[in-house]
Amino acid sequence: MAGTGERDEARSVFVTGGNRGIGLAIARRFAAAGDRVAVTFRGDRPPTDENLLAVRCDVTDGQQVDQAFKEAETAHGPVTVLVANAGVTHDRLLVRMSEEDFTSVIDTNLTGAFRVARRAVRGMLARGHGRIVLVSSTAALHGAAGQTNYAAAKAGLVGFARSLTHELGPRDITCNVVAPGLTETDMSRALTEEQRQHLLSNTPAGRPAHPDEVADAVEFLARAGYVRGAVIPVDGGAGLGH
Ligand code: NDP
Repeated sequence: MAGTGERDEARSVFVTGGNRGIGLAIARRFAAAGDRVAVTFRGDRPPTDENLLAVRCDVTDGQQVDQAFKEAETAHGPVTVLVANAGVTHDRLLVRMSEEDFTSVIDTNLTGAFRVARRAVRGMLARGHGRIVLVSSTAALHGAAGQTNYAAAKAGLVGFARSLTHELGPRDITCNVVAPGLTETDMSRALTEEQRQHLLSNTPAGRPAHPDEVADAVEFLARAGYVRGAVIPVDGGAGLGH
């Protein structure tokens, strides 16, 4: 039944940055449930999983986004679940941050999500059904020194999701945000030990998240029909729900 979260068929799922880290864990979760899953990759590291369709796509390029959706839709049918997960960091204190450091992070993390969401929503509107999940960060909610670019992009996703929620109105199309805290991936392994310890000292769970624990929240949002414009922290209690 539409909007109740019940499933009657394999979904066509599209995960940006699904070739590694959190995106790969999310993609594997959907594939394990029997969904048809396309993941984007840029370089020479497409995932080797047999049940994932790897489509080349840099989310900073609208033409590549369109082409990747065409490939996914040809193989799997119209995308009904979009996970905008691709992200980068270029951390610097503001006084040392170049305009390029700032705009490139916005272009991938925020405008990239806009490009894929706009492309996906067209088909979702035609079908009257869809689930969009944007991968933000606790940096969006608490800020972080050296991350004015990244936090601004990730906070932008919250306003984006809530505005789109208003636009979609009563249709069975949802847009929500997950905000992970420190999660064990290549991105967090690039942090210094001092940065890790600082983050963990403010995390009641006392450990980083495993990417599968972010996938738990995404899986829920891809099913739920009445959760809209929400931000779900997956942060081991660092924000105590915020
Ligand atoms: P990784 O660095 O492990 O992976 C980043 C992914 O994003 C890769 O698949 C990468 O592809 C892809 N990507 C980056 N730029 C682009 C682009 N322009 N076009 C398409 N794909 C791109 O990071 P995580 O798995 O940790 O991060 C996933 C998401 O989770 C990000 O949005 C990140 O900001 C967010 N996050 C991560 C946290 C953490 O502690 N790890 C905490 C909070 C949020 P490629 O392999 O081609 O580089």
